[in-house]
Amino acid sequence: MKLQDKVAVVTGAASGIGRAIAQEFAREGAKVCIADLSGDAAATTAAEIEAGGGRAMAVAMDVSDEAQVDAGIARIVAAYGGVDILVSNAGIQIISPLVDFKFSDWRKLVAIHLDGAFLTTRACMRAMIQGGRGGTVLYMGSVHSHLASPLKAPYVAAKHALLGLAKVVAKEGAKDGIRANVICPGFVRTPLVDKQIPEQSLALGISEADVIKNVMLKDTVDGEFTTIQDVAQTAVFLASFPTNALTGQSITVSHGWHMQ
Ligand code: NAD
Repeated sequence: MKLQDKVAVVTGAASGIGRAIAQEFAREGAKVCIADLSGDAAATTAAEIEAGGGRAMAVAMDVSDEAQVDAGIARIVAAYGGVDILVSNAGIQIISPLVDFKFSDWRKLVAIHLDGAFLTTRACMRAMIQGGRGGTVLYMGSVHSHLASPLKAPYVAAKHALLGLAKVVAKEGAKDGIRANVICPGFVRTPLVDKQIPEQSLALGISEADVIKNVMLKDTVDGEFTTIQDVAQTAVFLASFPTNALTGQSITVSHGWHMQ
């Protein structure tokens, strides 16, 4: 058990990558807090974990809402006695050429990815410092933290910005034993990606099969999608790494699409 009795908050954990990380953390002995927009969806993931013998609680929160984040983290501290790990993972995708991008859509995406990362980090860092036992913050970046693609201006900008945030947390957190790192996956088949395959097909005027082969997986070494398990294993590795030697870094998990 690599995360025995650690309290882990995973945002966006009712679906996709976050759900897989929450399940893997629970298998490694963590007490997992499933933070997501819908309390019912979060409760379903928490119930699945408990049915498998793990420990989990559901917390409804919009990560871009300061009051909801602070109240949610306070509930977790009251229930589990602190926070050891934050995985800031909640996210959405909106695709459009930049010249047509609605400002309201730009703001919505940046609020979830960046305001959400800041607000959950601040609340969890406060709890970690108060607890006096250090902690780990993991950001769900993307290959788009390092590379750009057309049609994704706010997503690419926000994912790049997470690298900067992680480096500041690494510097400010070190004295309290708090580490911060970024996981940068390639394309993973989750609802977020399944939704954009037909959208990209329409926007680029190519078939859905061509979107997968010639856009999403074109530059991988083997034409394979990254899996939720690949990302969850990386999260366990980073969350259980014991010292400040590994902080302020990003690790890319993308079948060689991007090599740092
Ligand atoms: P997903 O759509 O399966 O899950 C996203 C979750 O975030 C959902 O449960 C949703 O309810 C939640 N969420 C959305 N807005 C929220 C908010 N305001 N507050 C709280 N929760 C909110 O998507 P996914 O593919 O699992 O994506 C998870 C993260 O991984 C995102 O940050 C995404 O950018 C990143 N990522 C995904 C891929 C991929 O290919 N799927 C690749 C690289 C990075």
